[in-house]
Amino acid sequence: MKLPEKFLERMQTDLKAEYDDFLKSYEDKPYTALRVNTLKLSVADFQKTVDFCGENVNWCENGFYYDGKKGNHPSSIAGLFYSQEPSAMITAETIDIKEGDKVLDLCAAPGGKSTQLAAKLNGTGLLVSNEVVPGRAKILCENIERMGIKNTIVTNMYPEKMESHFSEFFDKIIVDAPCSGEGMFRKDEIAVQEWSIEHTYSCAQRQLSILDSAYKMLATGGQLVYSTCTFARVENEDVAEKFKHKYEDIKLVKMHRLMPHKVKGEGHFCALFEKGGKRKNEKRIPITETKREITNIYREFEEENLNTTLGGVFVSFGDFLYLVPSGMISLDKIKCVRPGLQLGEIRKGRFIPSHHLCMALKKDEFRRTISLTDEEISLYIKGEAISHIGEKGYGAMLYNGTYPIGWYKLSDNIAKNHYPKHLRKV
Ligand code: SAM
Repeated sequence: MKLPEKFLERMQTDLKAEYDDFLKSYEDKPYTALRVNTLKLSVADFQKTVDFCGENVNWCENGFYYDGKKGNHPSSIAGLFYSQEPSAMITAETIDIKEGDKVLDLCAAPGGKSTQLAAKLNGTGLLVSNEVVPGRAKILCENIERMGIKNTIVTNMYPEKMESHFSEFFDKIIVDAPCSGEGMFRKDEIAVQEWSIEHTYSCAQRQLSILDSAYKMLATGGQLVYSTCTFARVENEDVAEKFKHKYEDIKLVKMHRLMPHKVKGEGHFCALFEKGGKRKNEKRIPITETKREITNIYREFEEENLNTTLGGVFVSFGDFLYLVPSGMISLDKIKCVRPGLQLGEIRKGRFIPSHHLCMALKKDEFRRTISLTDEEISLYIKGEAISHIGEKGYGAMLYNGTYPIGWYKLSDNIAKNHYPKHLRKV
């Protein structure tokens, strides 16, 4: 790999005696890791379920090294884990997420940190995951869905457009900022080609502007974590210092740097801040609930097919019905691509359940299930129907007898395939 001269010169100046070890780290293969999705199962159960869970990632109790090539494994389809670069796990571990918190992940796609934060919230509170690039926001939604996360709103906005709506609203904010990506060099040749010293400075400007927006949305007494996957001081310590100096009520609590010659990972920087002052109780406009007739269509489906009664605020968006996380305020003027748990679509008065709902429920919450073998799962995810004798209606296909992977609808002893067409592996 040919690394940019100016990058090497700067690293040598910054790292001094450590430089040779840093350079040698480019001879090693990049590390890949996974994070167990504790919304669906414990680490112990995951280790009993799969045979590829390696050594623990030191700074994340649910993180483990593995070979990184299990995207099509049934346990991945069932959302039992999320593949994540190991050092990237440090950001969400640095901030003190408490159950019930209102959390904003301002630069969220593809969702590594959001899915980690959601596991920490454990189904409580509210997570707003924002991504500016529409195509990436779509991937973020798919990951939120696969991991079975119920309490997340996915938005697609520039941070400055969110400020007035969410003024001082969030208890915790994560800014995992777009950066010059020096920590990606070992994995991504394009990051090497796109790098320049000038780019590190323009990234720093953008990072400070994103932090300004984050500051405005952070409640007094709240915490903010800023992170990048680059080694450039101008985008890391310098940005953290400038941000702290700009705002009197911002305290820099700590900074971490994971470096590839010191840890098993590609490297990450993060800085934790606290905003001083006493919490104000602002009046917010609540979200508008959908009409009772629409909720009733869902309730009929629920009664026929589920063993659970979901509670909360039901909201319609086009033909789709959602359950919005508690604590969410009006979404007027918000470009929202997923306002919570997508329950399903109402088509000509009939309710068609969404994949998101299936992935968010546990085995016992379905009235009907079919346990598939791994071979049957590979047919199911291609879209094939499966013969089955049982009660008519919607049910969940299960991996390993326990974990939902998608809907079926049984009639005439055929379980019709309801695995989403865009996810099928053909
Ligand atoms: N947090 C993500 C994760 O853990 O999977 C990775 C985020 S990535 C480092 C940075 C993200 O910021 C990208 O998805 C990028 O599209 C987004 N981004 C780009 N420009 C932005 C801007 N001006 N404001 C906010 N986000 C931006």
